[in-house]
Amino acid sequence: MDELVVSDGRATSVGGLPVRRLLPRRGRRTVGAWCFAYHMGPSASPLAIGPHPHIGLQTVTWLLEGSVLHRDSLGSEQVIHPGQLNLMTAGAGVSHSEEPAGSGSGDALVEGIQLWIAQPSSTRFGPAAFEHHAVLPSMSLAAGAGSAVVMVGSFAGATSPARHDTPLVGCELSLDTSCHLDLVPEWEYALLVLRGSARVDGSVLEPGRMGYMSPGRDSVHVEVAGPVRAILVGGEPFPEDVLMWWNFVARTADEVEAATRSWEDDDGRFGRVDSHLDRIPAPVVPSGLHA
Ligand code: MN
Repeated sequence: MDELVVSDGRATSVGGLPVRRLLPRRGRRTVGAWCFAYHMGPSASPLAIGPHPHIGLQTVTWLLEGSVLHRDSLGSEQVIHPGQLNLMTAGAGVSHSEEPAGSGSGDALVEGIQLWIAQPSSTRFGPAAFEHHAVLPSMSLAAGAGSAVVMVGSFAGATSPARHDTPLVGCELSLDTSCHLDLVPEWEYALLVLRGSARVDGSVLEPGRMGYMSPGRDSVHVEVAGPVRAILVGGEPFPEDVLMWWNFVARTADEVEAATRSWEDDDGRFGRVDSHLDRIPAPVVPSGLHA
């Protein structure tokens, strides 16, 4: 069993919110099919990201605090609250915006995580879809260590109703005391601590860091000294090499260029989002993408 690999995320900002980008990291592009993770906030400024396109991925939006309004080119209009899941499947193309929900008091904090799941080639050219899950399976962990909510896949005997296209899991952990978590030995995992501080294999995990576990473990011991909120993602190592650029998860530079052109030309591939926010233009595709 290899030791936990800890990497520090990169601080940036998205849609007016401070963000810690945890995945991808140098040398680590995917964890199972999970290919992107950013921890947003906490911030008093509302999330406002204008319409933008996606291909070849699912977006997983999960909040700890506040609320966000999702609109997409399928006509979906959905406010999400903490403990709920928004899951958008891009397939061959979708566009969406993320907006402040309602008038609000103006001082509400927003905090959450957005994750992307790479779609396998069997579904990535398929239709777009959107799911909202207001209630997900939640269970107590052994010995009163805390609780887990299963966002996607199965964990600790409970299964989320959310769609997934490859063998994987994503769950939120609320830990009060140290615990053992059962893992699938053939899978790889990452632990993303959003609040508090945990220790795995002697390494400290706190907000802004990712702890990666390669396959070969049937459990992990997570030590905590106080309350911790964390996301555990994992899955079967993704068998395809993905090419990620901007909001696209593809395999070739030609696919990325075609998607970029469709967005710039507004040729209908990505539909329309009924949003008052400005459409986000695509950056210039770097020539090095073809390397
Ligand atoms: Mn998006």
